Amino acid sequence: TTFNTMSLSRPLLKAIDELGYTNPTPIQSRSIPVLLQGSDLCASAVTGSGKTAAFLLPTLERLLYRDRSFKAVRVLVLLPTRELAAQCYGVCEALAKHTDIRCCLITGGGINSGKQVQALRQNPEIIIATPGRLVDHLVNTPNFGIEGVEILVLDEADRLLEMGFMPQIESILEHVPKARQTMLFSATMTDDVDQLIKLSLKNPIRLSV
Ligand code: AMP
Repeated sequence: TTFNTMSLSRPLLKAIDELGYTNPTPIQSRSIPVLLQGSDLCASAVTGSGKTAAFLLPTLERLLYRDRSFKAVRVLVLLPTRELAAQCYGVCEALAKHTDIRCCLITGGGINSGKQVQALRQNPEIIIATPGRLVDHLVNTPNFGIEGVEILVLDEADRLLEMGFMPQIESILEHVPKARQTMLFSATMTDDVDQLIKLSLKNPIRLSV
């Protein structure tokens, strides 16, 4: 397969070309078609496999055809560390470059929480976050909610759980709609990851790359 035969729109193909991606990686060619159809997916894939674009491209494709009058966070991507979240945000900005889709990075650490509140007021459609800081904003930031989320991504699921984020993930799962698409990526498939899969995915397609 090539990116051109994957039913992706021109603004995305243009960004892919500018990033210098000539051919999809194995995880991309296997997951993009099923994700475009709306299936839940769990995939064992490591950093370096191209998994970020594998979930961002079908996600952005879906947002291109959204109803713009409905303002809500539609996509929530959870990652275990602020470095990983910042990397994912960078890929998202690059892939969304020729679209009007707005993305916001919500992490702890050095980044100023007041600035994040301002960014959340701009109605971002995609939020890329670490779970702790996301829950802080759910509790403390007025008018911020994730009740409109259509796509939830749990990236680096094994590390999310190793770092003790299960309580935050459970609380996030209580706030997002049951009718949604969920994608889970993990380097390893541990018993804990299996439990999270049971808790968060519906009839997922399973891929191992
Ligand atoms: P990831 O596994 O998502 O962290 O991606 C690893 C690296 O591969 C990143 O630097 C991406 O920019 C790059 N990459 C992702 N997809 C492709 C592709 N189809 N062709 C070449 N490089 C890619």
